[in-house]
Amino acid sequence: MSLAGVAVSSGVAFGQAVHLVEQDCSVHYHLLPVSEIHSEKSSLTQAIEELICILETGQKCIEIDSDNFQLIDADILLLQDEELLNDMCTAIENQQFSASLAVDRIFDFQASEIEALQDPILASRAYDIRCLSKRLIASINGTLTWDLSHLRQASILLAQDITPAEFAMLPLDNISGIILKTGGLTSHTAILARAAGIPALFNCAYHELSIRNGQTVILDAISGELHAKPSRELRSELRLKQLTESNRLQQLLTFKDKDAETQDGHKIALFANVGNLSEITRTAELGAQGVGLFRTEFMLMNATEYPNEQTQFLLYCDALHVLDGCPLTIRTLDIGADKDLPFERHVHEENPALGIRGCRYTLNRPELFKPQLRAALRAANHGSIRLMFPMVNQVEELDTILQEIEMCKQELVAEEVGFGDFELGLMIETPAAVMNLNSLLPHIDFVSIGTNDLTQYTMAADRGNLQLTKAFPSFSPVILNFIKMTIKAAKEFDVKVSLCGELASDKRAVAVLVGMGLEELSVNLSSLLEIKSIICDGNYSNWQTLANAALKTTRIDELHDLVCS
Ligand code: PEP
Ligand code: MG
Repeated sequence: MSLAGVAVSSGVAFGQAVHLVEQDCSVHYHLLPVSEIHSEKSSLTQAIEELICILETGQKCIEIDSDNFQLIDADILLLQDEELLNDMCTAIENQQFSASLAVDRIFDFQASEIEALQDPILASRAYDIRCLSKRLIASINGTLTWDLSHLRQASILLAQDITPAEFAMLPLDNISGIILKTGGLTSHTAILARAAGIPALFNCAYHELSIRNGQTVILDAISGELHAKPSRELRSELRLKQLTESNRLQQLLTFKDKDAETQDGHKIALFANVGNLSEITRTAELGAQGVGLFRTEFMLMNATEYPNEQTQFLLYCDALHVLDGCPLTIRTLDIGADKDLPFERHVHEENPALGIRGCRYTLNRPELFKPQLRAALRAANHGSIRLMFPMVNQVEELDTILQEIEMCKQELVAEEVGFGDFELGLMIETPAAVMNLNSLLPHIDFVSIGTNDLTQYTMAADRGNLQLTKAFPSFSPVILNFIKMTIKAAKEFDVKVSLCGELASDKRAVAVLVGMGLEELSVNLSSLLEIKSIICDGNYSNWQTLANAALKTTRIDELHDLVCS
């Protein structure tokens, strides 16, 4: 029994199926019949016991002196608090609240009291209390299933969807593959799976196969298929495929120390996209020429509080040390849309992708923005830093950014703290940014084209929706023309131009992108050596001709046929 999906992170994985059932955190508001009061109180106590048991099991897997251990301890203590239990039982008895409503109200009261103290450290505790309340409600509703502490090696996760924040909490060492019913090719979860080298299949209606927990399944994320109950022949065939793939990857390692240079001597600077320090270390090991995009928000996806300036400064210095003289391109926090940070209060927006995200978010939040700017300025004293800003559309936003940087510099001078110069850049992620290049470029040193969002906003097509990303792909004539406009304008203003969207990691697109005049590409770590091998095998002058023809195409098929011919 097999089923097709879309392979968003390549590879073949064998493993045991583990379903991640969505938690039901809904609160029941009905007036409880008096006859049910007793049983409702027992569901509450049972749910508390279940949650404590899960937390204690989870605690066994982590270091006793780690922050996480302490946090779990605090949660357990709260769940064991008799006064709290009494308050909830009283609400069930006297006000005829359902157990979920009692939990919701009493925990919310606790969290609000802590928030009222207006202490930033306690504020994150208030957030934890609200999370705990949700988990307790899920337990009352019988859907507390996000506990992965029992996960054995080589598990294949099956879920409706996984957000970037949930991905950051997965025990990746024990996960060999991921299968989602939803998800887009350039969604952040797909990017994270690729960076972690975990085979992933999205848009797969796996429920049709009635897969049980623990059942052996094979994920072929090369041809895009999920196999349940595979025959002996199929198993051996796929084992062979897995081996061939691993040999191919081994072969690619020979490109590690080579320059990305075409056969006719045209050099490309090949950088990597990363989300944390261990990926930066891999960047150095894979022989990239630096980091072209450090998505700083990724490393905060499961943080309990916002790291202060000193912590960020030390992290950037560690990264510079690992990169050994190669540049580190830090992108300031790109929060919002599908990327919520756990320590930030989530504000509901009707259209989050068109809402307060990227620079719109950080420019409103100096307490987040300034420590990052100051940390980057200070790190620039110790190595080559490039700082870039996401989702900037017009020069007014850039003016504010420049003022903030100037203010930080003045403060550092007054405090006699050393800092250096960084190269200043912008992500080009919207049609407005492309059309406004003439007003933006005079103030900056480089631009980096973010084709994931540029495509989403040009096509008005949600990048997390696979149907749409297939019909409105980045590798299309309109996006190529926006890229060409950006390259042309940047060259006129003598501003460096790079491309860091997933299009740079698309094997089919490399020849056209290089032929169009891009001299720097920043790619997903798992694609780095493959893209380098394509550049090393290519011929620049042929690619220029190909790029000219590609820019004249008017249909997506025509473009795809052209590059495949
Ligand atoms: C992009 O939009 O292309 C990009 C690189 O940024 P992100 O994928 O993090 O939104
Ligand atoms: Mg983007």
